[in-house]
Amino acid sequence: MFSAQQYVKATSLQQALELNQKRSSAILGGGCWMRLGKKNYATLIDLSGLGLDTIEETPEEIVLGAMVTLRQLETSPVLAAAFGPLFARMTEHIVGVQFRNCATLGGSVVSRFGFSDIITGLLALDCEVELVQKGRVSLADYVQMPYDRDVLARVILKKNGRRAWYESFRNTETDLPVLNCAVSCLNGSARVVVGARPARAVMQEFGQMPSEQRLQEMLDKTEFGSNMRAGAEYRRQLAGVLCRRAIEQVKGDAECR
Ligand SMILES: Cc1cc2nc3c(=O)[nH]c(=O)nc-3n(C[C@H](O)[C@H](O)[C@H](O)COP(=O)(O)OP(=O)(O)OC[C@H]3O[C@@H](n4cnc5c(N)ncnc54)[C@H](O)[C@@H]3O)c2cc1C
Repeated sequence: MFSAQQYVKATSLQQALELNQKRSSAILGGGCWMRLGKKNYATLIDLSGLGLDTIEETPEEIVLGAMVTLRQLETSPVLAAAFGPLFARMTEHIVGVQFRNCATLGGSVVSRFGFSDIITGLLALDCEVELVQKGRVSLADYVQMPYDRDVLARVILKKNGRRAWYESFRNTETDLPVLNCAVSCLNGSARVVVGARPARAVMQEFGQMPSEQRLQEMLDKTEFGSNMRAGAEYRRQLAGVLCRRAIEQVKGDAECR
């Protein structure tokens, strides 16, 4: 369990950013991952007083605050109306309801875990992150950026009618995923995302729903790794199965055939 010499409930995002510049400081999300470590932080910065726990809808966008919990993502009627069961599917196997009531979107996105269900699901959408220092950056670019001391304020989803589906495979119901994938479609074009390889997710755009051959070409050039959950070759085979299932689901939508 971590400890801290000083706890600060931030009164503004600017203050949070300034306090977070020291290497001995940390932003506190749900604390679910941090609590696995034993660090003694000089300053813990709590964002919970900044109104970042809301899901807000405008005509063009859905704006998710960094302190929105995974459970909020799972149960939000706004997200379900815009993206069907995508958010429920990408969160429902993460540990359990009590855990998902604590773990935050901000902590999940900033951490960019190789096993992340959240990053894989979000990459299927047209998604940006809003950083206090750097402003808006596409999630696809953010995933490639090195870790730094910026603060994630919000995640923004374009409401453009993109259809998406999510698949994951686990050895047991609530374990980390052995592999996950998401497929989406907009105006006939498709995007395939493969994550938990077990490295960070990779994505590829296709001018139309990928044929069996095009999908196989993508998977052939994707690197898969081995760990205690599965071997690389098993993951490659699994990726084919999960991507085909997701493609079939998305094809169910008339605009995506
Ligand atoms: C046992 C266990 C099982 C898990 N299983 C899965 C799984 O199956 N699938 C999956 O996708 N995820 C899984 N996770 C990850 C989990 O879903 C969360 O992503 C993780 O707990 C981080 O979220 P948090 O709110 O707890 O962040 P914290 O632990 O509070 O923070 C994590 C890191 O992010 C930083 N941070 C937090 N918020 C911000 C912010 N707004 N700006 C800048 N930095 C910030 C913190 O300083 C810290 O370095 C698991 C985690 C655990 C502990």
